[in-house]
Amino acid sequence: MLPNCTFFKLEQPSFLQARNAGRFTTIVRCCPLCGCGRVQTSPLRLRLSRLPGRAEIAQSWGGEIIISTRLVRLLIDFGITGFGLGPVQRSKKGLEEPFSFTQTNSGRQLLKFAEEHQIKYPSPEFYVWVNGLQRRYLLNSAVREHEAIKLPKRRSAGGTSSEWYQLFIVSNPVELGPQARVGNGPFDNDVDGRQRCPLGLRDHVLGLNLLSQASILSSQWDGSDFVRSLGLVGVRRGLLMPRPLIFISPRLRQLFVQNLIKGWTSEVADLC
Ligand SMILES: [Zn+2]
Repeated sequence: MLPNCTFFKLEQPSFLQARNAGRFTTIVRCCPLCGCGRVQTSPLRLRLSRLPGRAEIAQSWGGEIIISTRLVRLLIDFGITGFGLGPVQRSKKGLEEPFSFTQTNSGRQLLKFAEEHQIKYPSPEFYVWVNGLQRRYLLNSAVREHEAIKLPKRRSAGGTSSEWYQLFIVSNPVELGPQARVGNGPFDNDVDGRQRCPLGLRDHVLGLNLLSQASILSSQWDGSDFVRSLGLVGVRRGLLMPRPLIFISPRLRQLFVQNLIKGWTSEVADLC
C-alpha cells in the first residue's frame, strides 16, 4: 500500500506529429528565450492512423496529449478533477470548425443546453460537460447524425474525431520540490544553464531532463487528480517542445490500471 503523500509522474511515448504544430501563435506573454507561454489557437490536428494499436493515451512530439473517448467517460464517471478537453481533427484538409454541433439537430440542441448552463462553446469545459452522463446520449446521436450526412468531398477524409479528445491540465500548476534535479544527464547538472531559460523564472524552461525522482510542493496542490508542473522541461528542437511534467493522483492511476488503459507508464513522485 502506497502512502497518501505519493503522486505519480505520468509518461507517454511521443510518436504523433501534430499537423498544426507550427500554428501555435506566440502571444505577447510568450518568452522569446525559451518559448514558454505558447497558446494553442486552433484545434489539434493529428494523423491518427499513426497511433499504436490499442493505446488510449498518447502524446505528440510537441507535447499535446490525446485520450480516447472511453477514457474521457471513465474520468468523468469517476469524478476525476483537474482536466479539460479539446477536439482532435484527423485530416490534413478538414475545416477548423468542430464538426457536428452546428450541423445536426442533436448537436444544435446540445449547444442550446450549453448556453442555458452558461458553458462556453468551444472550451475545455464544454467538451467535459458534453461527455457527462446526462448529455452522452445526445452527443452519441449528434455523432451518428453527423456521420449520416453526406459531406462535401473536400471534408470527407476528415473532421473532428468522435474517438479522441485533447487533454488539457487545468488545475493549479505546482512547482517541483527542492530535491528535484534537472539537468542534461546523470553526470551533467547543466551548471552553465545552457538548457535553462536565462530569465530564471519559475514558470519557464528549467532544463533538459528531470534527473531525480520527481517531487511536487503540496502547498501548491489544489487537490486535483491531474496536476502539471509550473516549470517546463525539454528543448525546442524541430517538432519537439519543452513541456510541463504531468502528475496523476493514486486514485487516477488506479483507474488507469483497473480499466486496462494502454499507452502510459508512471514513476512515483513525492508530494512534499
Ligand atoms: Zn523563458
